[in-house]
Amino acid sequence: MYMDEIKIPEAAALIIERLNNAGREAYIVGGCVRDCLLGKAPKDWDITTSALPAEVKALFEHTYDTGIKHGTVTVLIKGESCEVTTYRIDGEYTDKRHPDSVIFTDKLEGDLARRDFTMNAVAYSPKTGFVDRFGGIGDIKSGIIRAVGEPAERFNEDALRMMRALRFSAQLGFEIEGKTFDAIAQNSALIKNVSPERIRDELFKLLLSPDPLKIYSLKQTGILDCVLPLLSALLEERHEEIKRCIGLVPPDIAKRLALLLYSRDKKSIEGFLRALRADNKTIKDIATLSGYMKIQNDFSPYGIRKIICDTSPAMAADIIDMQGILTDEDTSSYKNILKAVIDNGECCSMAELAVNGTDLKALGVADGRQLGELLKKCLDEVLKDPGKNNREYLIKEVCNICTH
Ligand code: ATP
Ligand code: MG
Repeated sequence: MYMDEIKIPEAAALIIERLNNAGREAYIVGGCVRDCLLGKAPKDWDITTSALPAEVKALFEHTYDTGIKHGTVTVLIKGESCEVTTYRIDGEYTDKRHPDSVIFTDKLEGDLARRDFTMNAVAYSPKTGFVDRFGGIGDIKSGIIRAVGEPAERFNEDALRMMRALRFSAQLGFEIEGKTFDAIAQNSALIKNVSPERIRDELFKLLLSPDPLKIYSLKQTGILDCVLPLLSALLEERHEEIKRCIGLVPPDIAKRLALLLYSRDKKSIEGFLRALRADNKTIKDIATLSGYMKIQNDFSPYGIRKIICDTSPAMAADIIDMQGILTDEDTSSYKNILKAVIDNGECCSMAELAVNGTDLKALGVADGRQLGELLKKCLDEVLKDPGKNNREYLIKEVCNICTH
């Protein structure tokens, strides 16, 4: 796994070279170095430099002030973008989440020391090779998450780091080093200082990781009880089911959260998600999915058409999948039915019905409740037998009902 060289993409290499030619230091740093050492493709390439933001902006034609307050400038080059951040030391963190001030420095060491974990505090440049002041390479090789410096102090500065540690351990399969873990357990109440959005991002990343059961470590350390007591209670109440099922649920946030939350009523589920500032579509999907997970569904052709009518074809597929996971039954026949309904273009909505309100009014049906009920009746007949989605037939049916 260990390598002495990292293959840097052209854009990042050009940025480093140009900064070097201007007499400044520049390295790739953080997640990208860690991922390269693990043989994984990094999501993005972050550069750390001794150049001040104004110099970075002067050296490159296309830049954006992404996080200029924190010294970050996005440089666009060769169709790629890299975040270039000036070496910095963070000032005091009186609110336990934002440094009161950002102080730029010209020493790489200071910049590495402010980073959260040793595995995220390794820098590399083609010219200098690795700069590893805190034993990050060794920890990456051994699969260990260790705070840079005194763990309790670092969590007091920014309490989100505790959740980051647990999230990284779920994503990378790493162990949290003993002292670092103990400091999380001892300082878990500090998580109350962190914004719901940041908590949500870490929680969702953990749940989407290959090891979503690590959510139990989040509970074990006391973090969940502090900020997400409902989730903590559910993990206890439905421990067996969650343990058995969560790994079987595809890594989709609505589905994984639905598994955790579905046993509660709609209001509590929506309240929980709203407090986490989840987006409206996610909230709606989870509420819908949860509703169906509570009941034994009818997956006959009629039942499936009805579900599509009330939700959507994609949601019907998810509902079938989730029931399969919960009850451990073979759902292939339900999926075949769903596929046939979709492939045959069978009518599963009012919009696809062969008659509409205007047709019925032409027959003398008054606008209002009766009209709505008649249309619903027609749709239900068609959901039972798609062959009946025929204008003449349905008009005859309506006439029959009206004259009886
Ligand atoms: P990911 O693959 O999830 O993006 P990452 O390590 O790149 O992982 P980022 O959140 O993108 O994580 O942050 C980039 C780098 O900035 C980290 O590797 C770490 O060095 C530093 N960093 C990020 N957040 C913090 C924090 N809360 N405290 C200290 N250092 C941090
Ligand atoms: Mg990153």
